[in-house]
Amino acid sequence: MTDDRAILDTVERFLERHVRPVASTLERADEYPHEIVERMRELGLFGCVIPEGHGGLGLRPSTYAQVIERMSWEWMSLSGIINSHLIMAWIVNRIGTDRQKREFLPRFATGALRGGLALTEPDCGTDLQAIRTVARREGDHYVVNGTKTWISNGIHGTCFALLVKTDPTAEPRHRGMSMFLAEKGPGFTVGRKLAKLGYRGIDSAELVFEDYRIPADRLIGGVEGAGLKHAIVGLELGRVNVAARGVGVAQRALDEAVRYAQQRRTFGKPIHEHQAIALKLADMATRTEAARLLVGKAAEALDRGDRSDYEAGMAKLFATEAAVENSLEAMRIHGGYGYSPEFVVERLYRDAPLLVIGEGTNELQRLLIARRLIERSPI
Ligand SMILES: Cc1cc2nc3c(=O)[nH]c(=O)nc-3n(C[C@H](O)[C@H](O)[C@H](O)COP(=O)(O)OP(=O)(O)OC[C@H]3O[C@@H](n4cnc5c(N)ncnc54)[C@H](O)[C@@H]3O)c2cc1C
Repeated sequence: MTDDRAILDTVERFLERHVRPVASTLERADEYPHEIVERMRELGLFGCVIPEGHGGLGLRPSTYAQVIERMSWEWMSLSGIINSHLIMAWIVNRIGTDRQKREFLPRFATGALRGGLALTEPDCGTDLQAIRTVARREGDHYVVNGTKTWISNGIHGTCFALLVKTDPTAEPRHRGMSMFLAEKGPGFTVGRKLAKLGYRGIDSAELVFEDYRIPADRLIGGVEGAGLKHAIVGLELGRVNVAARGVGVAQRALDEAVRYAQQRRTFGKPIHEHQAIALKLADMATRTEAARLLVGKAAEALDRGDRSDYEAGMAKLFATEAAVENSLEAMRIHGGYGYSPEFVVERLYRDAPLLVIGEGTNELQRLLIARRLIERSPI
């Protein structure tokens, strides 16, 4: 196993030197951070959780979560550039055929082949079993037709874990769902880049499949009908990523607020000496620490290879709500300046809401947590 501390220190130095000076400018321009991504490739970050035997860093999910927290403290968008890419790699490593692992994981690890996860469609996100993208078998190929939307890395990525229906009439509906490793080529095009409130720099796009022919050996795991299960396996890692982003954003909001509360004076004293501000700071700090503990617990369950949907759901729910609340409180503490793009809290306030939507909305997390709670304690 790679030395975790050394990786975290390297990430820290990279963020300070190469990301901090340019993040706000790139974010405001919604410009893809090509040079930063190149450095992320050189550092091996596209292979964070890919086993060393396949060319990755072989980080445990709990170390990966710390990398993501630190990255998101600096600029949350960067964590998205590797998130869905690594979800795809995680699925291949856990479920792919030996040939798929040999063929894809080393290229994913170096970032030579990059991409993400294509689940959501214009008509459905939470209710994934309602997808309409269809793959029909024709000899040794499948022919895919349909549209995906909101796909992170959709423009600059070239390979996607693509969720489709191979049997649109199956009941229950998930039995007709399958997942493919789809590389861009004839019939697989980018529809359009999507504009966003925050989380800028990273590309979010619509992907269009028109008679896209994909070899049958790109069916992940080699069997039809298990696509939804594959997505769920991948989303366990994705939820840890998004939860860790929440901790990073919550911590940054707290740090900015703590500093500003000591600089800004009103009525003859620094504002942190007003009890109304002190109470906010205490709540922000407590939320952040609690979120970090939940994320650590969920990530450690993944380290052990345990089922972690309950823990990951709680971590995702709590940490992302903490990010939303802390970013708003940091803005209030900054007064009028918090509303200005000159201050980073304005960006945190725009970035944080994505976290309650992506990787399963927080409404869905609550439903999943409650379902597992009942399963664990039947009467
Ligand atoms: C910036 C960005 C990046 C994204 N990246 C990706 C990506 O890389 N890949 C990908 O596949 N998708 C991606 N998504 C899509 C994202 O995963 C979906 O937006 C999300 O899953 C919600 O789906 P939806 O937007 O269709 O909302 P809907 O499913 O239509 O939900 C609308 C509202 O209804 C609620 N709701 C739905 N069903 C229930 C229920 N049963 N009970 C209670 N409430 C319910 C939801 O919580 C939500 O509040 C991204 C989205 C954004 C904004």
